[in-house]
Amino acid sequence: MTLGMIILGRQGSGKGTQAVRIAERFGIIHISTGDMLRAAVEEGTELGLKAKSIMDAGELVTDDVINGIVEERLKKEDVLHSGFLLDGYPRTVGQATELKKLAAENLKLAINLEVSIEEVTQRMLSRGRQDDTPEAIARRLELYEAETSPLIEWFDKENILCVINGSGTENEVYERVISEIEKSI
Ligand code: AMP
Repeated sequence: MTLGMIILGRQGSGKGTQAVRIAERFGIIHISTGDMLRAAVEEGTELGLKAKSIMDAGELVTDDVINGIVEERLKKEDVLHSGFLLDGYPRTVGQATELKKLAAENLKLAINLEVSIEEVTQRMLSRGRQDDTPEAIARRLELYEAETSPLIEWFDKENILCVINGSGTENEVYERVISEIEKSI
């Protein structure tokens, strides 16, 4: 059995930055579905061509497509050997249900990094990513509340939810996350 975790949090909550550090700390593989999709866009693959306009609009790629990508990734040798931290997945109840099947007992913890809507909006406007237009930001936050926030209760029912206050400096949040993970695993 390996160590599997997911990290939830609004876009701009700092979850990507924390995910890289957490994965390194525990020697597990960081899997960001957003990074995988951006790489596909860069490479101009069929997936990338389909995903680009969806991402630019702040919409979600369909569950079928993203579930397929994650399933492939979780089967790779490095993940089977070292475990994983999923960042940006799952984002819908349909994806969480699929992950439960895929990861089974390897999924030990769901971290929810809590940062207010006001604070994440400010952070996103200042990071200047291509899909960080005011319209796309608003749409992503709306979809997060509608599609992703129900997962907090979903993972609570699975008894693996761990809620962390995500405001403060990167190091403060990191220390908080690490101490909570160590208590839980
Ligand atoms: P992120 O870097 O996680 O903010 O992801 C960037 C964009 O990729 C999102 O706005 C979505 O369009 C798409 N995306 C990433 N992960 C998922 C997912 N699990 N389900 C659907 N769309 C996703």
